[in-house]
Amino acid sequence: LAATDHLTGAWNRAYFDRMIGAEIARSDAERQPLTLVLLDIDHFKEVNDEFGHAKGDTVLKEIVPVIQGRIRASDLLFRWGGEEFAVLACTRGHRGARTLAQDLCRTVESHDFTIGESITVSAGVAEHLAGESPADWFERLDAALYEAKWQGRNRVAVDARGQSDDWAREPRTGFLKL
Ligand code: GH3
Ligand code: MG
Ligand code: MG
Repeated sequence: LAATDHLTGAWNRAYFDRMIGAEIARSDAERQPLTLVLLDIDHFKEVNDEFGHAKGDTVLKEIVPVIQGRIRASDLLFRWGGEEFAVLACTRGHRGARTLAQDLCRTVESHDFTIGESITVSAGVAEHLAGESPADWFERLDAALYEAKWQGRNRVAVDARGQSDDWAREPRTGFLKL
């Protein structure tokens, strides 16, 4: 219970804060990229204003299985706060996470939330960099989300850097993978 969000059943932010250090260490040890996709529902205030706060809550609950249905078993879904959700993708770098985020945008847009109009999300993507603090990582993530909003919403913006690129450049990586 201490790890889940009461409204939606997604993992909560407190749990994220508790586990992220260990996930970063594991990512480094196993050379598995770690990427965050931050999703923010577009114009959610208008959903509340138009259909009421209770319906807004229903949308927040309903969007969780919609997202869960498109992510891998190894990915974790968090309610980041308010109408923001984060997917911690534990096997994908920023390239794979861009594809995932684009898929999530399309899936949410085409889901019928029974309000007679589409709900859309904007997404920021940032892969963890070697030695980067969680705070610096989130700052890049936030900037990417802001960029997606600024570009017009219902779209993905990616900070196209990441450890997966460094690992791919090292000649030994291919051998280790083999
Ligand atoms: P943008 O496209 O820029 O993200 O616009 P927005 O309206 O989604 O963003 P803004 O941050 O202005 O508003 C977020 C809204 O989310 C306002 C707040 O009332 C609503 N909200 C946050 N948490 C909850 C919740 O638990 N339930 C409901 N129903 N609404 C919530
Ligand atoms: Mg928001
Ligand atoms: Mg929003």
